[in-house]
Formats: sequence, C-alpha cells, structure tokens
Amino acid sequence: MRIASAFAVTPAALVVAISNERRSRAGPRRVDEVEKLVIRTITGFHKDANGDWDAELGCLHSQHVRHRPPFQNRPWVEDSAQRQARVGSPIECPLCDRAETPDSLTLLRAARPWDQDTLPAGLRHSHRIAEGTWGMLRVTEGSVNFRMQTSPTSPAMDTTLSAGSTQPIPPEAPHEVTITGPVKLVVEFWGRPQ
Ligand SMILES: [Zn+2]
Repeated sequence: MRIASAFAVTPAALVVAISNERRSRAGPRRVDEVEKLVIRTITGFHKDANGDWDAELGCLHSQHVRHRPPFQNRPWVEDSAQRQARVGSPIECPLCDRAETPDSLTLLRAARPWDQDTLPAGLRHSHRIAEGTWGMLRVTEGSVNFRMQTSPTSPAMDTTLSAGSTQPIPPEAPHEVTITGPVKLVVEFWGRPQ
C-alpha cells in the first residue's frame, strides 16, 4: 500500500523537480528566445464604443490600448501627437497567430472555382497574400491538404480541409495547397474597400 502510493506520487513530483531544475539552470530567457507572435504594424487609432482607444493594425484587426491606471499604464494614448508617433510601429497580433478573421470585412473578389487539375501552380507552392487582404479558402467538394505558417516561431498548421470547410488565411502568412485527390475549391479575398 505504501509503495503503491509512493509510486503514484513520485513521477509527477519528479517532473516538477526536473522542470524547476532546468528553469534555474537556464536562467532568464534571452529576448530572442521569447515566443514571438505575428508582428503587425499600427496603422491608426480609434475609440471603441466604451470610449477606450483601439490600435488599428495592418492586418485589419484592432487591439485595445487602454490607459486605465494602475493596471494598464499608457498615458501616451490620451495624447494625439503621441498616438500619431506610434503609427507605423510594430505590435504583436495574437488574433493573426490564431488565423481569426477580423470583424466587418467586405468580399473584394473571388477567384473562379478550381479543381485538382486547374488549381494554378502558384497556389501549390508557398505564397502569401498582401497586407490588408485576407484569404478565405472554401472547399466545396473532396478534400485538400493545407499548410500555413502564421508566425516564424509558431508551429506550422498542416491539415486536411474537407468539403464544407472554410480556412481563413491572414495577410502575409506563407501557405500552400497540396492536391491529394479530387477537389473543388474557391478562394475569396476579403478586406476593407479604400
Ligand atoms: Zn492581426
């Protein structure tokens, strides 16, 4: 009984001990080891319905940049000149990392439906969509293999998209489609008209 309970406890305790030891041996993480999300560019600012400031990003997502001391200290956001100075600066976008489509996009154009024979070679190799435009890959029949890398440090998505599935593709994320059998698919481009 005593042996059994000791055995049940030990492996978990051991894992904790090992990971603690590794952490202390490694010391503080260097900046270049910190996981990086997708880096986007701030293109502007607006106030949301609650009167809080949102940064507008080149990917068409918005991100709260609240000044609510003492927990969120961004006094600069209340000043027009300081906001303006931050336009063009980099910001991480977790929503892009998760390939979540921004709100209120408009369908800009749709490529004609392709099948396993007509899918252009360009889409079968790694390629990207320009900043400010989202792709939407819709599989209407069959299935296809889809690979995408949202940020240089996040694991690549490698999945099978079957009939009925829709895959959002963030701007500038390298992605490729591999034909694995009969398929019909449509690629749409979504954004905000200028
Ligand atoms: Zn984004």
